[in-house]
Amino acid sequence: MPVTENLLRIEEKIQSACARSRRNREEIRLMGVSKFHSREAVEEAWQAGLRLFGENRVQEAVEKFTGFRESHAGTELHLIGSLQRNKVKTAAPFFNCIQSVDRDSVIHELGKTSGERGTALELLLELHTGEESKSGFPGEESLFRAVETALSYPGLRIRGLMTMAPYTGSEGPIRNSFRRLVKVRDVLEARFPPDTDKRCCWTCLSMGMSGDFEIAIEEGSTLLRIGTGIFGERRQ
Ligand SMILES: *Cc1c(COP(=O)(O)O)cnc(C)c1O
Repeated sequence: MPVTENLLRIEEKIQSACARSRRNREEIRLMGVSKFHSREAVEEAWQAGLRLFGENRVQEAVEKFTGFRESHAGTELHLIGSLQRNKVKTAAPFFNCIQSVDRDSVIHELGKTSGERGTALELLLELHTGEESKSGFPGEESLFRAVETALSYPGLRIRGLMTMAPYTGSEGPIRNSFRRLVKVRDVLEARFPPDTDKRCCWTCLSMGMSGDFEIAIEEGSTLLRIGTGIFGERRQ
């Protein structure tokens, strides 16, 4: 598997995008999106130094990562796909962070079950900025309500925002999508400033995938979600 070489190539590109946009490499986390890929592929990425992984289905994540984190200390796992209500009870104790929170009803469900974790559950709120599937909150008003809902549960922590840019070869719409996320983050940060017990803070901007991560870095991303670029094509 060329995972190790792929990681080196991606890392080089991240570093040159950082240099171009005068950003520190340390501000940006790299997630390996391992959906549809085997535990062996995850193992290879881990051996090459990757610690953050993303899955978009609860069941697949549970099958792949149960036991893995116990034997691979430091591994962090995020859910990046839409969460169905009937999967919340499984997801809330299993993931370190749910990045794809896109409905108030899911926040309520997560809030009610998050008490069963030893630590608070971290959330990113997904904003719809142009990707075809229409997942994510539609705009600022709906995000205001979502933040208030999340803040009403002591077991939840908001860490920032997530988005998917449209799948297109043209740079303009992709850049606009990322810029919109940054703007909305600024609005939310002004309205809900980080409090002393850090119930919400806005440090994480999860944007950028295999096809657009260099643009995302230029626009301020702090977390890149890369699947194909690290693990190769998915069979789906
Ligand atoms: C699959 C997926 C990715 C990774 O996509 P690639 O183009 O393979 O890098 C990133 N984010 C989300 C939400 C995904 O579902």
